[in-house]
Amino acid sequence: MEHSIGSDCVVEIRDILESRQSLMKSKVLLLEKENNEDAFFVFDLGDIVQKYANWVRRLPRVEPFYAVKCNDDHAVLKILADLGTGFDCASQNEIQKVLNLDVDPARIIYANTVKQISFLKYSAGKNVSTMTFDNEAELYKIKAVFPGARLLLRILPPGHFKVGFELGIKFGCHPQRVLNLLAIAKSLTLNVVGVSFHVGSGCLEAEAFAAAIERAREVFDLACDIGFKMELLDIGGGYPGHETGPGEVTFEELRACEMVTLSENSSWDKPVRHLTRIIHPPPLPWRKYFPENEGVKVIAEPGRYFVTSALSIAANIIGKRVMPRHQRNKDNLPIDRSGESDKAAIMYYINDGIYGSFTPLLFDKGAEKIKYTEFVLPEERDTSIVHSSSVWGPTCDGVDCVLKDCQLPELNVGDWLYFGNMGAYSIVLGSAFNGMPRPRYFYYCQSDIWYQLYPETACKVERRMTFAPKTMAGHELPKTADADTEKNGF
Ligand code: PLP
Repeated sequence: MEHSIGSDCVVEIRDILESRQSLMKSKVLLLEKENNEDAFFVFDLGDIVQKYANWVRRLPRVEPFYAVKCNDDHAVLKILADLGTGFDCASQNEIQKVLNLDVDPARIIYANTVKQISFLKYSAGKNVSTMTFDNEAELYKIKAVFPGARLLLRILPPGHFKVGFELGIKFGCHPQRVLNLLAIAKSLTLNVVGVSFHVGSGCLEAEAFAAAIERAREVFDLACDIGFKMELLDIGGGYPGHETGPGEVTFEELRACEMVTLSENSSWDKPVRHLTRIIHPPPLPWRKYFPENEGVKVIAEPGRYFVTSALSIAANIIGKRVMPRHQRNKDNLPIDRSGESDKAAIMYYINDGIYGSFTPLLFDKGAEKIKYTEFVLPEERDTSIVHSSSVWGPTCDGVDCVLKDCQLPELNVGDWLYFGNMGAYSIVLGSAFNGMPRPRYFYYCQSDIWYQLYPETACKVERRMTFAPKTMAGHELPKTADADTEKNGF
C-alpha cells in the first residue's frame, strides 16, 4: 500500500518494517533490474513519529520547534506539522515552506539573530512575530519594520563545554552587553518576551544545558527589573538523534539535566545508572530556575534529534584501486593493520561523497564520534579477512573522502555500501558538484504508526490526502516500547 503525502512524496506503508538493511537490499534488487546504480535514500517516517512521541513523553514541559535547516524535506515538515510541533525557521524560504503546510504563524520562531530586511518584512506580513536578536543593529531594523514583534534575546551560553559545532563564535549576546542591549530595546519600546540560547549543535556534555539555563535565569530577572514581561524560554537545539557511543551524551542525560534545572524532580539527589553510564544530578544551585507555577513557557529548537536516524543511504561502489604499500600516502591513505594483506591498501570510490550527502563530515568536530554507526556491508560477505581500505566520493576533488581508514573485506565494483544516521544536515548541504546526481528517495512507514497518525487514509483507494493539523496536546501518540526508550533515551 502506498500513500501520497504531497509534493511527489509517495510513502510505502508496510505492516512489518524489516531492518533498514533488508529494505535497502530489496530496493537494490529492484534498481539492479533497471540497470540503475544511483545512490538512494531510504527514509523511515515512522522513526520521526517515534522520536516525537518520545520527546513529548520524556520532556513534556518543553515544546519542540523543529529546526528546519537540519532537513527541510517536505515529508519531514509535513509529518511534524501534522504531529503539532512548532518550527524554527532561519529565512523567508523556510518560513514559506512551513506556512504552506497551513501551520499557524504562532507555531513558528524566526530564530536567526541577523535577518535580511526583506525577510523581516515578509515575516511581518505573515504575522510570524516571535524572533530572536542578539545585537543593536537588529533592534533598529525590527523597530522600523516590525515594531510589534515578540523578541527573544539570544544569549551566549557558558562556553567551556564540548560540542560538535560551536555556534557561540558567531551568535549570542555576551553577559556584559546584556543590560545595554535590553536598555536599548526598552528605549525603542520594543517587546522583549524571553531569552534563547543554543549550546552548540551536537552537544557532548549535558551540563552545558544546565549552565545555560542558569544564565538565562539571570537575564530573565534583569529584563523583568527593566520592565519587560518575560514569558518565554527557548533552550535551543543540540540533542543527539542517534544511538550515541562512548564519550557522547545521550538524549536521556540531557533530558534529566534539563528537567531538574528547569523545575522538576528535586528528589533526584543520587547518581543513577542509565545503561552503561552513571548520570549525576546537576549541582544543587542549578535546580528549579523556572518553576512551573511562574508560567514561563519553555520551547526548544531540536534539529538532528528528529531526523538523524530516520534516513539511511545506499551508495554504489563505482571504482576500486589497489595501492601497493610503497605508494601509500601517510596523510591520506590507510595503514594496513590486518596483517592478512601485506601488499595492498584498497581505495573504493562510491557515488555519493563529501560534496553530496556526507558534507557534515567536513565541519563536524565530533564527526569521529558521531560517525555512521550503521555502516553496513553487502550481505553474505566473508568478513574473516579484511584489508586496510578507504572510501572516496565520486568527484574529482582530493578532499572528497568519506572514510579515511577502515577495515573491509574485499569488495567489488557494483557492490553497495549502506550508511545509517544520515538524516541531519545531509540533504540540505549536499550539492551536485561535478554534475553528480543527488540520490533519489524511498519513503517508508510502518502501518500502525501511519494509521494512528492518519486514520482517514485507512481506506482501500489511494488518494491525495489533506491532513488537518493536530495539536501537541490533542494527538494520540504511537506507543514505543519501554525497552527502546531505555536503550538510548529514545
Ligand atoms: N537552532 C539554531 C538557531 C541553530 O543554529 C541550529 C543548528 O545550527 C539548531 C537550532 C539545530 O541544532 P541541532 O540540529 O543540533 O539540534
